[in-house]
Amino acid sequence: MPAPLIPVETSPDLPTHADVVVIGGGIIGAFTAYYLAKRGMKVALVEKGRIGAEQSSRNWGWCRQQNRDARELPMATKSLELWSQFAAETGEQTGFTRCGLLYLSNNEKEIEAWARWGEFARSVNVETHMLTAQQAAERGRATGKPWKGGVYAPTDGIADPSRAAPAVARAIMALGSTVHQDCAVRGLETEGGRLSAVVTEKGTIRTRQAVLAAGAWASSFCRQYGIRFPQATIRQTVLRVSPPSEELPSALHTTQASMTRRFDGSYTLAISGRGRVDRRRSY
Ligand SMILES: Cc1cc2nc3c(=O)[nH]c(=O)nc-3n(C[C@H](O)[C@H](O)[C@H](O)COP(=O)(O)OP(=O)(O)OC[C@H]3O[C@@H](n4cnc5c(N)ncnc54)[C@H](O)[C@@H]3O)c2cc1C
Repeated sequence: MPAPLIPVETSPDLPTHADVVVIGGGIIGAFTAYYLAKRGMKVALVEKGRIGAEQSSRNWGWCRQQNRDARELPMATKSLELWSQFAAETGEQTGFTRCGLLYLSNNEKEIEAWARWGEFARSVNVETHMLTAQQAAERGRATGKPWKGGVYAPTDGIADPSRAAPAVARAIMALGSTVHQDCAVRGLETEGGRLSAVVTEKGTIRTRQAVLAAGAWASSFCRQYGIRFPQATIRQTVLRVSPPSEELPSALHTTQASMTRRFDGSYTLAISGRGRVDRRRSY
């Protein structure tokens, strides 16, 4: 069970027009709507349930460069900058902090792979430190286990999944755009082959532009328009546990388990690297 989601208000009225309608109020839809609103667009963010209540409040919340593929690393570095900037420019708290990420292992191959990644990271100015067995034992003292090695990424961090998307939604409303909850998008209307409106269960919003950020529902939404959007549905279990008696690192990954501290002192706990592909819901 994730930490309780911070509730956010719904804008009073569904607009009749918008420059852009964003479909889906998870972290992707919320930040998309925020950056469009910051550019002066009138945006309507439309969510079928509550803002952030699906996958975006149930993840580990890691904001990480560590171990990223070279092709995604520049985007990860930029996103860390944007997480900091968002708090400074809006005053909203997503729980983002560059607390550092700690990885511990007893698998020599895994440790060698981290060391190779570290050489690459330094060549692109990303800070990461390999840990000896003694350093790993010191940093991972609370695990009560010996470790052959580890890696510490001091400039990486975490955001709080239960606070992040609601914080962004409040910032969207402060910019004069609107947020609509319990308002499923049913479909799109077109005129002359172009988008002309987004149809929701509470009314129609005329618009020339829409962004689909519907998470696990994206492929089924696209299918009604003959668009095949390949998507795998993965099931994984994440738990919330009460604060342990001994202080654990804020974000820790081992081969067996991963954990992240939440703003209320509880921890998100997950089995590392285990997920089940749900074939019935993969497209
Ligand atoms: C176990 C696990 C751990 C993870 N850990 C991390 C991590 O540490 N760091 C990280 O960056 N990522 C992590 N992720 C990935 C991260 O959770 C997702 O990438 C992210 O939450 C996706 O956000 P989203 O906005 O695309 O989707 P969602 O949060 O699912 O949002 C989509 C929203 O669209 C809405 N919607 C769908 N259809 C409609 C419709 N027709 N009308 C209106 N609304 C609609 C849904 O209700 C939903 O709220 C993890 C994922 C898992 C499974």
